[in-house]
Amino acid sequence: MNQKLISVFPNSISIQIKREDLLHPFVSGNKFRKLKYNLLQAKVENHDTILTFGGAFSNHIAAVAYAGYENGIKTFGIIRGDELFDQIDENPTLKFAQNCGMLFKFVSREDYRLKSEISFLENLKEQFGSFYLIPEGGTNELAIKGCEEILTKNDAEFDYICCAVGTGGTISGIINSVLPHQKVLGFPALKGDFLKDEIRNFVQNVNWELITDYHFGGYAKVNEELIAFINHFYTENQIPLDPVYTAKMVFGVIDMINNNYFAANSKILLIHTGGLQGVSGMNIKLKKKQLQTIAING
Ligand SMILES: *Cc1c(COP(=O)(O)O)cnc(C)c1O
Repeated sequence: MNQKLISVFPNSISIQIKREDLLHPFVSGNKFRKLKYNLLQAKVENHDTILTFGGAFSNHIAAVAYAGYENGIKTFGIIRGDELFDQIDENPTLKFAQNCGMLFKFVSREDYRLKSEISFLENLKEQFGSFYLIPEGGTNELAIKGCEEILTKNDAEFDYICCAVGTGGTISGIINSVLPHQKVLGFPALKGDFLKDEIRNFVQNVNWELITDYHFGGYAKVNEELIAFINHFYTENQIPLDPVYTAKMVFGVIDMINNNYFAANSKILLIHTGGLQGVSGMNIKLKKKQLQTIAING
């Protein structure tokens, strides 16, 4: 599923894109990889319920909700932001998850921060009974194991593997599966320096680096340049990018090519981690601000 980009870059640098977004119509990209072994484990442990966490437009929430529906597992979503409880109908992600059967508990931003504390989880067990817990963003050891399957032996020709970074699970799986001559570049979609240490907990290899210049102001923040880039990229390549993760990564890689970061003849593989379900939610926000919207029919 690698796709060549036809645009010609200087110095014979070539880019291919791995279309993980096409893995599944609803559980797209890295969320499919991250859920695979967790769903198997939930079954092994005889759980009929999965509980997880996410924000208002979370790709992970949408993915877990659909995976639960498809596998006959009940799903609970602990959603960040207690103001959202009466906005489900206006929120395409929450609406989708609800249609898949997910039940929500909306918590304040303060409470949400406590989500990994034992007392918070114990409290949830009292409310919901026993469940298989998947952390925010889906990152745990089993998720990383799933992400180790993103690269295949056909990808050995690449010098660089580039991917967007949220919690660091996906890049950890990729780092664990690259060959010694390959380097992994991660593009955090949010501000902050904590990610390096998170990733170090999960990996042994050292041939990776985080490129922190392309978060566009922080998580889910966009500007007109980024939206114009997504639309232009779609017109040129017929490949839809999501505004929260993949667009920032692809924008960054192209900018770095233009700034001569890569040596001549470098072969670069971009991982399209999906996330396209978030486009309609972003477009609602852009429309409210009377800004240009994302024009992809992905
Ligand atoms: C969740 C997500 C990421 C980030 O993955 P992590 O494993 O949390 O780093 C990247 N891209 C897309 C499209 C995502 O939905």
